[in-house]
Amino acid sequence: MTVMKVDLHCHSNVSDGVLAPAAVAETARKAGVDVWALTDHDEVRGIPAARAAAEAQGMRFVTGVEISITWANETVHIVGLQIDENNAALVDGLACTRSGRDNRGREIANQLALAGIEGAYEGALKYVGNPDLMSRTHFARFLVEIGACASTAEVFKKYLSEGKPGYVPHCWATLEQSVKWIRDAGGIAVIAHPGRYRFTPLAQGELFDAFKQLGGTAIEVVTGSHTPDQYPVYAQLANYYGFLASRGTDFHAPGESRVDFAALPPLPANVKPVWHDWW
Ligand code: AMP
Ligand code: MN
Ligand code: MN
Ligand code: MN
Repeated sequence: MTVMKVDLHCHSNVSDGVLAPAAVAETARKAGVDVWALTDHDEVRGIPAARAAAEAQGMRFVTGVEISITWANETVHIVGLQIDENNAALVDGLACTRSGRDNRGREIANQLALAGIEGAYEGALKYVGNPDLMSRTHFARFLVEIGACASTAEVFKKYLSEGKPGYVPHCWATLEQSVKWIRDAGGIAVIAHPGRYRFTPLAQGELFDAFKQLGGTAIEVVTGSHTPDQYPVYAQLANYYGFLASRGTDFHAPGESRVDFAALPPLPANVKPVWHDWW
């Protein structure tokens, strides 16, 4: 039996990645990926190009999206897989979620100006591939460009996280909305990188319970946004809550992500993959 290399979490320049969808497909394929999903933030318009490129390269393509939500005052990301990207309610819901990103970007720039960094809106805009999707990542790239920080990770730490001078809170979709949009579009809802949120174990359990009750199916276990010691922890939690397990690099740019396509380990043997019945 051949083992398929599955990567179900990646970004293109249709959100805050740097490569066009077809170039992400090519990068994934070169690193040995057999089954691939593009999961841009709050956006499905990269999917047609991604699908065409994936099929041309002999990869099995999975439609995807990563929806920004606010839950218990914290930003959480919900991945939708196997969605119909033309579903009207999903398309409308995502458009609504994206609106406000530009104003938020202007406010981030105002805050950064107060902290002594001028021209951040225009600076970040140079990195934006989709005018509807200005992201903190684009600001991070600009701050690295001007030498304010050595890496995007440092920019987030010093400027763009909660409590820091360039942080502007934003109210995203709700958990209920995100799961409903995904399920009504025929998809599977997955909690992205659960180990990244700053929840107490109690709050995390409440998120898992609420997600399960709404019809959520899986959590990411092996992701470039987890540290390796979190893989077994979330594998065990997936089994405890009866969730399937997902895997993906959370690739944004060559050299920028924590883990490249080829380096991400497989899912632990004790979990049931979210793709277990896909082919
Ligand atoms: P936004 O949706 O505009 O709030 O931006 C969120 C994005 O910022 C995430 O999808 C990541 O790509 C990036 N991000 C968040 N935290 C960090 C971090 N600590 N280091 C690097 N990138 C980060
Ligand atoms: Mn991102
Ligand atoms: Mn995410
Ligand atoms: Mn992501």
